[in-house]
Amino acid sequence: MSAVRPGAPGATRACPHCKATILATASVCPACRGHLRFDASAGADGERATSLLVEGQLRSDATGGAVEYTMVLVIRNERGEEVTRQVVGVGALEGSQVRSFSVAVETMAMPSGKNRRR
Ligand SMILES: [Zn+2]
Repeated sequence: MSAVRPGAPGATRACPHCKATILATASVCPACRGHLRFDASAGADGERATSLLVEGQLRSDATGGAVEYTMVLVIRNERGEEVTRQVVGVGALEGSQVRSFSVAVETMAMPSGKNRRR
């Protein structure tokens, strides 16, 4: 869990269904898509938007062999320092197999009174 105080932008909680760390303001878990009890005191009255979306496909170009892949997700701050690095998934492709990958960053504007951080 994060060190952000409850009610502040970026505050987190654990999804009761899958235990993923999600925003406290989320009404649907982005990991398991389970619906969550919405806590009005969390302050989520902004509009959610998908601010960044990257999608692509990978296919095996190896003839008669396989290609292994590793999907790595990195989040960096304004100084280029890594905030998070995760291996999202690994696997292998053979023959005509294809995998699609997509990364979405959802955002929600917070009321100005709740933008103060410690
Ligand atoms: Zn979940």
